[in-house]
Amino acid sequence: MQTTFIEKTYKNFINNEWIASGSEKTIKSINPANKEEIVGYVQNSTIEDLENAVQAAHKAKKSWKKLGQAARGQLLFKAANLVEENLDDIAESLTREMGKTLPEAKGETARGVAILRYYAGEGMRKDGDVIPSSDKDALMFTKRSPLGVVGVITPWNFPVAIPIWKLAPALVYGNTVVFKPATEAAVTAAKIVECFAKAGLPEGVLNFITGSGSVIGQALIDHPLLNAITFTGSEAVGEGVAKSAAARGIKFQLEMGGKNPVIVTKDADLDAAVEAVISGGFRSTGQKCTASSRVIVEKAVYERFKEKLVQETEKITVGDGLKDGIWMGPCASESQFTTVKKYIEQGKEEGASLLYGGEALTGAEFDKGFYVAPTIFDHVKPDMAIAQEEIFGPVIALLQAEDLEDAIEIANDTKYGLSASIFTSNIGSLLEFIDDIDAGLVRINAESAGVELQAPFGGMKASSTGSREQGEAAKEFFTAIKTVFIKG
Ligand code: NAP
Repeated sequence: MQTTFIEKTYKNFINNEWIASGSEKTIKSINPANKEEIVGYVQNSTIEDLENAVQAAHKAKKSWKKLGQAARGQLLFKAANLVEENLDDIAESLTREMGKTLPEAKGETARGVAILRYYAGEGMRKDGDVIPSSDKDALMFTKRSPLGVVGVITPWNFPVAIPIWKLAPALVYGNTVVFKPATEAAVTAAKIVECFAKAGLPEGVLNFITGSGSVIGQALIDHPLLNAITFTGSEAVGEGVAKSAAARGIKFQLEMGGKNPVIVTKDADLDAAVEAVISGGFRSTGQKCTASSRVIVEKAVYERFKEKLVQETEKITVGDGLKDGIWMGPCASESQFTTVKKYIEQGKEEGASLLYGGEALTGAEFDKGFYVAPTIFDHVKPDMAIAQEEIFGPVIALLQAEDLEDAIEIANDTKYGLSASIFTSNIGSLLEFIDDIDAGLVRINAESAGVELQAPFGGMKASSTGSREQGEAAKEFFTAIKTVFIKG
């Protein structure tokens, strides 16, 4: 099935106009399930294009703030309806551009609609609190104020949900935005921006610019007119964002990598644990920041768990995510494919034993894409690279623990602390886990990947810096508090 978006060229959106970059160059976006298919082209923008985008956002910030939260919320309701009306097209674009299966892409897009509606509703909720004053003739209250121009930089792995969960709160709380999406998924991002544009945002409120991260992204984070930056992506780039923002004293929010553990205790429901590990480890081809990449199993049930895990992994169907019956798609890009293969080789060299998969898939069905088999390593030691570094692919490391204390120690022994889960039927064990695990998302008898849109999202240690995302936490990040005192 060929749809209209194939090979279309998407422009930047600046000051409510779709305009081509001054460079007159474009970047090709290809389908990782079939690298011969061009999904579309986006602009290879210049620093001058970026300057125009930031200036537009800067100019619009006063009137957008003055419009008021309720009116801004109404515009987001319109954007939500437009994303919903275009859900099938957006989801298909997502699958073609980054490879996740169509049902997952539809689920992500539906999540985007729900997130938009949540923040649209914020338009009708309070933007401050009355606080009792010790002066009986005074009124004291807080009022939230927008920050100004916010830079939004997003990764390719959730090209619908992540942009929306940053753009929607930034906008409803009164900020104007310059949005630079990941190049690997910029066509899908453009489709989201089309919905915002059609919703009728005033000029300059949302500006969209595509191009190289190291050129346009870097210039955006360094721009003196920026008042805040929200970034999701790799730790390496995040460090640069933090440095640049801290040097200028502006607010920043970083969501980065994970090496998320799942602990399986001797009294766990092993079938439920296996199901969650398969889903958390291999859904989206393991390309989730919350993916279950380390599974730490108590010695007493290790062999039984392992056997069940392999049995279930054998059922995974790999292929083009647009096709019915496919459970796992390709890696999202050639560079991701190369990275995953490199880690698999490293795992073998370090002495872990391959329990399942461990190779790129070949044959007529796979040769045009970036396919790797779901892979499980056994006898993994906590200090091996495959147990320490984020692979961002369908690779699970199995580690054995003596007991719960040992398991939690292994789980905490990485630089990351995004999400962690435990499977246990013992209340004492789960309470110990909640207390002792170093993770921002603590999941009991549930897979490590997964978060509800109204709850705070973010991690500890190298996984996150700055405030959490989503729910009330988004309001904290995207606004400043004024304490108002009125003497009667
Ligand atoms: P990435 O390479 O760091 O890219 C993220 C974004 O930063 C892209 O838009 C990229 O643009 C841009 N960028 C690259 N270099 C830049 C620079 N010097 N200055 C400013 N921006 C720059 O990450 P990714 O490969 O897209 O995403 C995968 C990573 O994201 C993984 O580590 C994953 O764990 C993390 N992630 C974290 C969360 C979370 O919530 N914790 C969620 C999802 C993903 P280009 O695409 O043009 O290079």
